[in-house]
Amino acid sequence: MEKQNIDWGSLGFGYMPTSASYVSNYKNGAWDDGALTSDHTVTISECAGVLQYSQSVFEGLKAYETVQGKIVTFRPDLNAERMYNSAKRLEMPPFPKDRFVEAVKEVVKANDSWVPPYGSGATLYIRPYMFGSSAVIGVKPADEYQFRILTTPVGPYFKGGAKPITIKIADYDRAAPRGTGHIKAGLNYAMSLHAIVEAHKQGFAENLYPDSKTLTKVEETGGANIIFIKGNKFVTVKSPSILPSVTRRSLEYVAEHYLGMEVEEREIPLTELPEFDECGLCGTAAVISPVGCINDHGKEIKFPSGMEKMGPTIQKLYDTLTGIQMGRIEAPEGWICEIE
Ligand SMILES: *Cc1c(COP(=O)(O)O)cnc(C)c1O
Repeated sequence: MEKQNIDWGSLGFGYMPTSASYVSNYKNGAWDDGALTSDHTVTISECAGVLQYSQSVFEGLKAYETVQGKIVTFRPDLNAERMYNSAKRLEMPPFPKDRFVEAVKEVVKANDSWVPPYGSGATLYIRPYMFGSSAVIGVKPADEYQFRILTTPVGPYFKGGAKPITIKIADYDRAAPRGTGHIKAGLNYAMSLHAIVEAHKQGFAENLYPDSKTLTKVEETGGANIIFIKGNKFVTVKSPSILPSVTRRSLEYVAEHYLGMEVEEREIPLTELPEFDECGLCGTAAVISPVGCINDHGKEIKFPSGMEKMGPTIQKLYDTLTGIQMGRIEAPEGWICEIE
């Protein structure tokens, strides 16, 4: 396979169409066989459920070329499971989990020339998504759905290394205690846009949402879970209204089994923030973004790791997890899914 003629090192985090996308349609109570397509557009009713009532869910994962030259994806079974749960919460017919993993493999294989070479820092981002495609005007679930997977090569999230960011305690709610915060639904992002645009105007990189009911406990940011280091402890949030991040769950395992840390998944009161040594945001896109400062309505909580570079423990977590993904460090059983 000959790679595409792309300057991989200068890629940003944007969309470009690749060779093929995967598409399957749900009609008359069943998913069709699904197929690859080179048509990167979607034609649906002007009254489609997704357009009127935002019935859509999505996932995000990556394909990498490892140091051994193999193309792999990272724990796609967890994305399959999460999308299954997301779909059920929005009354959409879940796409079968085994078919999800097969479809990811098929579409990555068809786009193997778009998987950035090892060492470039770039990756192939994989975006599975599903939406209500048939017309709905009275409020109810659509009868027909489309499941698609698009892929697009993306550059390293942080060019020239990850500088710690400053985030603010949000002035808006992201997820109600019994709402949809735990599923990956487009609607959670639509309502976060105003808050993020405002935060950016104020000079902050992200919003850290407190729990909507009491506004006293840490939840997560608009698109990433939050992790803290306190001595030899890896501390992260337990809440029914945060998204179960694959990266965060993998880091918990890495902290315990590779770095010998103690892992705590529990409620974190905002008042505890000044007690942590290091802080980071985690998700597929950036793996870990170090946080140097949290601004709580003018009061600055500065972590001892500072604003120049990642704290030492977060750096170790980052190096170990990316080492596993890139084939430099032996992976736990079942984490690496080889494409070819
Ligand atoms: C996708 C997402 C994350 C990160 O999940 P990963 O599986 O690690 O990519 C965290 N929080 C929210 C709200 C998300 O949508």
